[in-house]
Amino acid sequence: MNLSAGAQPKSVSRASLSRITITEIRSAPLFGESPQGGWSNEIQAGDSVHALIAVKTDAGITGYGSVFTDGRLVEAALDVLKPLYEGENALEPERVSEKLHQNTFWMGRGGTLTNAISGIDIALWDILGQATGMPVGQLLGGRYRERVKPYCSLLMDEPARMADEIIRYREAGFRAFKVGWGPFGRRNDRRLDEAIVRAAKDAVGGDAKLFVDAGASDAFWPNGLKWALRCADMLGAHDVDWFEEALKPDALDDFVELRRQSPVPIAGGEVLTRRQSFIPWLTRGAFDIVQPDVTKVGGLSDQRRIAWMAYDFGIKYVGHGWNTALGIAADLQLAGALPDTDLVEYIGGSAYVDNIIIEPFRLDSEGYLAIPTRPGLGVVIDPDKLARYTPDASKFLA
Ligand SMILES: [Mg+2]
Repeated sequence: MNLSAGAQPKSVSRASLSRITITEIRSAPLFGESPQGGWSNEIQAGDSVHALIAVKTDAGITGYGSVFTDGRLVEAALDVLKPLYEGENALEPERVSEKLHQNTFWMGRGGTLTNAISGIDIALWDILGQATGMPVGQLLGGRYRERVKPYCSLLMDEPARMADEIIRYREAGFRAFKVGWGPFGRRNDRRLDEAIVRAAKDAVGGDAKLFVDAGASDAFWPNGLKWALRCADMLGAHDVDWFEEALKPDALDDFVELRRQSPVPIAGGEVLTRRQSFIPWLTRGAFDIVQPDVTKVGGLSDQRRIAWMAYDFGIKYVGHGWNTALGIAADLQLAGALPDTDLVEYIGGSAYVDNIIIEPFRLDSEGYLAIPTRPGLGVVIDPDKLARYTPDASKFLA
């Protein structure tokens, strides 16, 4: 069993570094403690919306990745993709992932196959890191920083209850927060919306950032541009640091207008699932902050391209790969490899983030996470912990 990134490189000689062959790819759906999403049709604990990927090789190295979708879809995608990845060179993540994308365009690009390729791509970068003895961030171009500030992402709730929750996470060491979804914008009650924001602002404390996420990609979002403009003014009055998913996810023209008029920065992009889908949003200037999800958008290969494209447009990239500890690990590695990405989203209280790796993420005294320096993604799955959330952990990890 090969679990430890750090243990791998000794088994691979320099002479064999040009090729390591993919022998098998497995997936593990995560069940039992799926965190709530604040969706109008709420996720149940037993629903599978997150899955892990394991890419096995003939060198004994296994790479791991993560996918934000139903495990049944990932399993089906692996079946479809098998003839394309089997026997491929595991040391060429970008070429292999692009081969998978280009040869499946007619089966629904940007959907399940793209999501699954994301997890495969992350795992291939993990393998390349393990084989070369280097952290993935260094392979992605270098390390601009050694730590990143995670913002604790919490669901909105009635003001008093939400404030208690924020204070609990502040006491745990977080120094940046995002509140979103839940009742916000959904009850036609501007006073409630403002009371939520005021309570959150008081609870995070004067030294912490606060972001607000309307979550307008939820089903049947009831508001439009006028609501978003008025809300942006309210958020500006409370010194909120960005306004996320304020409009339906396809309302490009309205996003452009909102960004032009809003006193607070406008964030979005988590539901766009191909690198090419970002082109109009970046060229038109729809966002101040773009948030692709590395576990849906094509993995680290495409996430890096989106992030650099955004950088050249003067748009800040912040990763949305919070769905598991492996998604966060991928986000941390890429954040370090970009000149101005000093934040990462971190969902508060998810077992799949906090309770599947041997050394869980730890905040330092200033509320930052260190970017792992070990080879590959730099995190190690704990077999016993994983076994709580997936039916066949030992087969997945074997
Ligand atoms: Mg969001």
